Amino acid sequence: MSAERTFIMIKPDGVQRGLVGQIVQRFEQRGYKLVSMKFTQPTKELLEEHYADLKQKGFFPSLIAYMLSGPVVPMVWEGKDVVKQGRQMLGQTNPLASLPGSIRGDFSIDIGRNICHGSDSVDSAQKEIALWFKETELTQWKSSTHEWVYE
Ligand code: GDP
Ligand code: MG
Repeated sequence: MSAERTFIMIKPDGVQRGLVGQIVQRFEQRGYKLVSMKFTQPTKELLEEHYADLKQKGFFPSLIAYMLSGPVVPMVWEGKDVVKQGRQMLGQTNPLASLPGSIRGDFSIDIGRNICHGSDSVDSAQKEIALWFKETELTQWKSSTHEWVYE
């Protein structure tokens, strides 16, 4: 099954630090297919909905302030096992626990500045994609590399 989709978002610090290209490149070079991407300044309401499961956490207000501090790059990536593989490519929530070679392990230090988001399950990926993208914004195309990535 190569049609699994995940929601990956470059956070405001990733944008400010000029890491958009390098993060996109890692998913491209792995062989995953970009379905949608935008550069946008999200509302507080959207961010509170996105992080609704963390509402009771003490860091929730600072998390929302951080995510509101500048534009972000929400993306949908597609391919075999992309939810789990995307999480591995991001690394651990705490960058200090992230291995070198992962995005957080290579580019960040503090948990509150960990530069990217990735869905933690197929179910939450579907919810997050629906929250951030309209159905009409999700492209349908076949990558010309498909046969060279999948056997
Ligand atoms: P993720 O799925 O790896 O992004 O981690 P979570 O869903 O648990 O948390 C969402 C985001 O909240 C993380 O990526 C961090 O930016 C932030 N966060 C999580 N835990 C903490 C914490 O203990 N302190 C602070 N300051 N931020 C946190
Ligand atoms: Mg999470």
